[in-house]
Amino acid sequence: MEERVRFYENRLRELEAAAGRPEGSVRLMAVTKTVPPEKVNAALRAGAALVGENRVQELMAKKNQYNCAKSQIHFIGHLQTNKIRDIMNSVSCVQSVDSLRLARALSAAAEKAGVRMDCLLEVNIGMEESKSGFSPEGVLGAAREIAAMPFLTLRGLMTVQPAAASAGHDDRYFRRMQALYLSLKEASLPGAQVDTLSMGMTGDFEEAVRCGATIVRIGRGLFGSRERQDG
Ligand SMILES: *Cc1c(COP(=O)(O)O)cnc(C)c1O
Repeated sequence: MEERVRFYENRLRELEAAAGRPEGSVRLMAVTKTVPPEKVNAALRAGAALVGENRVQELMAKKNQYNCAKSQIHFIGHLQTNKIRDIMNSVSCVQSVDSLRLARALSAAAEKAGVRMDCLLEVNIGMEESKSGFSPEGVLGAAREIAAMPFLTLRGLMTVQPAAASAGHDDRYFRRMQALYLSLKEASLPGAQVDTLSMGMTGDFEEAVRCGATIVRIGRGLFGSRERQDG
């Protein structure tokens, strides 16, 4: 595990340097679906900066065993509004805000819990029917509304690009995300604090960093394939 984390950290530093980006501008998130807590802790000990959880039930079952601060745990999966309350005090950021309805419910739950919740707007950059998220054209309008919600802090954008682009090392979607991210930054929306572009997974993190990602989300590359994880 230490070795895998070190591999990613070294590669991220190389990619940052090659892209002329400051050292440490990309953070490594360990994506922990199906991964037992002791393995997650090993990744944290080895230096992974963040933990990404996809499922509310799994998060609630594992979070007390994690040796990290709440500030290091982000929710990255599809979130049903009836499950929001459970995670309010367990994560510092919801990366997967995929509708205004969810954003409103999150803001209301944050108010009740007495917290301010960071969030990223999820973009369906390939306009795939199988994925949720805002259309690229809808991002700025939605961002304006979400930034104005009193108990949310909009920190940026998140995406999962189409699998074919990932397999083909085609970076057109990541380029489009980079452009959207820059225009969101330039919009300087009141209530927003835009500094996060979450994109890139095991199969495409190198292209993502070249296109400005500030968080890469790595599952299989750290923990092995999810089919073989019960051993
Ligand atoms: C599973 C998952 C990842 C990690 O994918 P790998 O290919 O295992 O690196 C990243 N982001 C999200 C939203 C995921 O669901």
